[in-house]
Amino acid sequence: MQTETNLIHIGTEFNKTKAVVTPIFQTSTYLADEDPQEYITAATEPKHPEFYHRHGNPTNSQVAAIVAKLEKTEDALVLATGMAAISTAVLAVVNAGDHIIAQNAHYSGATLFLKEFLSDYGVEVTHVDQTNNQSFVDAIQPNTKLIYIETPSNPNLDITDLEFVGQLGKERGILTIVDNTFASPINQVPADFGIDVILHSATKYLGGHSDLTAGIVCGSKDFIQKVWRRSIILGASLSPFDSWLLLRGLKTLSLRVNQINSNALALSEWLEKNPAIKKVSYTGLKSHPQHGLAKKQLKGHTGMLCIEVAGKDETDEFKNAQTILNNLKLFANAASLGGVESLVVHPASMWGSHHSSSQKKVSGITLGMLRISVGIEHIDDIIADWEQAIEKI
Ligand SMILES: *Cc1c(COP(=O)(O)O)cnc(C)c1O
Repeated sequence: MQTETNLIHIGTEFNKTKAVVTPIFQTSTYLADEDPQEYITAATEPKHPEFYHRHGNPTNSQVAAIVAKLEKTEDALVLATGMAAISTAVLAVVNAGDHIIAQNAHYSGATLFLKEFLSDYGVEVTHVDQTNNQSFVDAIQPNTKLIYIETPSNPNLDITDLEFVGQLGKERGILTIVDNTFASPINQVPADFGIDVILHSATKYLGGHSDLTAGIVCGSKDFIQKVWRRSIILGASLSPFDSWLLLRGLKTLSLRVNQINSNALALSEWLEKNPAIKKVSYTGLKSHPQHGLAKKQLKGHTGMLCIEVAGKDETDEFKNAQTILNNLKLFANAASLGGVESLVVHPASMWGSHHSSSQKKVSGITLGMLRISVGIEHIDDIIADWEQAIEKI
């Protein structure tokens, strides 16, 4: 079956009631089976949906089945946030004394985890330029256990060559993990390029309505069992109501993402022609330095773009970016992305407290930069909103 059908019909076997729509299983615990052997199975089997909530929940199982199908992996595990997915999955791979290869630019929470948290636990991390394949090869050490990538990356929309990294991992016996949040499985299926494990902040496109936080890890059955064993200790289980909202959001994932792809391309093309905008980074534009690679691994180019506002100097660029930000009416100035409503943020302000100025430079964040998450509003209204905001400069 095709993706649109899978989004509606996969995993319905986890709903054992007569309700057409999977109910919210708002319960922390489940009745023991009369057969003691069955109860032992429920208590010990990974992800059992009817034992105790931290172990599993029927809606979580249904969500996991859908996303695993989309990502072409054997199995998946749903967790409370994207950060829980990242930290629980990585902690299922590395121990003290191990080494990870990661990128210079990652989601800010992932950067903190890789740079500050893991070093406290004796795990070494080398950060490389994701646009340079050879830099991954050069960083390999005898104790390298994991290559951790993110593409397109936050906020600059840089691309990592999935096929190259996937092959490198296979040749050298190193596990590969990708954060696929920005692309969503509608636009990019990293397993097609040999990547082992795929993570999402389901808070973004998968949920799609900016009303929940969730995370998901997709991989082989064996790997997901390892992650599950970590998860019942670390304890970041997704609440039954949020899981139900996520399941509801997933049903329209393809419709939403396709509309978002088309809106974002049209807005990027319009902004690129506007003299008030110095630079537009969007993987769907021919001007993107990795447009060829992007076309190879992305079926659509997502709703994420990054622009640099023009000005006489850096201070002026900052001022003009703030004028646009304050005058946009449809685009809410708020963190996060991937919802039906368009959002815009000023990365230099948002990450001011997390990133040192040298880290901002490495991540390519400038003062006149705005990161845009395009929603599903009508494209004419989207462009009209930018037109009136730019006129205020
Ligand atoms: C938001 C985000 C995360 C973290 O997800 P939470 O659900 O906020 O914990 C991780 N990676 C990327 C690329 C993100 O955009």
